[in-house]
Amino acid sequence: MIRFNIPPYVGNELKYMEQAIKNEKICGDGEYTKKCSAWIEEKMGTQKVFLTTSCTHATEMAAMLSEIKEGDEVIMPSYTFVSTADAFVLRGAKAVFVDIRPDTMNIDETLIEDAITEKTKAIVPVHYAGVSCEMDTIMDIAKQHKLMVIEDAAQGMMSTYKGKALGTIGDFGCYSFHETKNYTMGEGGALLVKDDKYNEYAEIIREKGTDRSKFFRGQVDKYTWKDAGSSYLPSDMNAAYLWAQLEVAEQINEKRLSVWNAYYGAFSELRDQEKLELPTIPKGCVHNAHMFYIKLKDLETRTRMIDYLKSEDILSVFHYVPLHSAPAGIKYGRFSGEDKFTTKESERLLRLPMYYNMEESDLEKVIEAVKKFDF
Ligand SMILES: *Cc1c(COP(=O)(O)O)cnc(C)c1O
Repeated sequence: MIRFNIPPYVGNELKYMEQAIKNEKICGDGEYTKKCSAWIEEKMGTQKVFLTTSCTHATEMAAMLSEIKEGDEVIMPSYTFVSTADAFVLRGAKAVFVDIRPDTMNIDETLIEDAITEKTKAIVPVHYAGVSCEMDTIMDIAKQHKLMVIEDAAQGMMSTYKGKALGTIGDFGCYSFHETKNYTMGEGGALLVKDDKYNEYAEIIREKGTDRSKFFRGQVDKYTWKDAGSSYLPSDMNAAYLWAQLEVAEQINEKRLSVWNAYYGAFSELRDQEKLELPTIPKGCVHNAHMFYIKLKDLETRTRMIDYLKSEDILSVFHYVPLHSAPAGIKYGRFSGEDKFTTKESERLLRLPMYYNMEESDLEKVIEAVKKFDF
């Protein structure tokens, strides 16, 4: 059976985890947590990175730092993972869903202004499949209407938009290191902070509402409860796992891109024959091969394809069911404008097996199977 995903493993994970244990500092903010955050700051070019227990938690921190409160509205696509909305809904905000562009499956930047009301506080672009949203337009709209921009870059580490790393363009950026992502620590994430005026409050929120981080740096002689907060620090053992992967981040990225390019090249003929559609990478965007998807004619064809691939021992999966159609989406959100593409495109999309340690022979097997399908 060819699985859809296998978590990346590069070889040094256990060694570093053992070292974390030997350091006798397995809680948060130990050696490996510091190494990982410093690496992300340097590599992505941002002033501050906080490693967190998940991308969901990084987004919750961003919502708190943006002072999102009861009754506020936050603009986002409906075609996304639940966490994008959860982080804001937890603070009492309403999710305002905007339709997507069919070419990238990202929020349609031309529809954002229509969704803005006097209650709007933030825009949350989601970089689907590690392909950037149209960030120049989004940042212009945000500036004009004085809105915060929180990038859900869960899938976007190592991707860029006009040379800038995803997650560093908006006020805050959120990465995921869940086992399904390109780089992992099992469960984990990171919050990227553009303006240093947020650093102190971010530290406090992440450390149960205390100034313990300052205490550990010797800047205060005892730590106190300063504000409402939570516990968003991952264990240093998990960070050690991630560190092994960050050390070879370029190698992981290149391997994934080679799988992605092989799929893309192999299916170009089927695309030309209009049997399926392939992803679009807009000009100015460099992607990280987070996923490879194809789009089929309709829901019925996709279901047939999933069943057919399964009969060939290949696991393929569809993706998000639009949030606005889910019970919580109805309760906590509203769709702005018309759902022209969100539902229709989500029903046609199919993701193929794609992971770091994918064998060449498995890749060939998937390609051959797709080519033989009765479209
Ligand atoms: C994976 C993912 C998340 C959630 O990441 P966690 O680290 O599991 O919290 C959020 N948004 C998107 C778009 C994702 O793909």
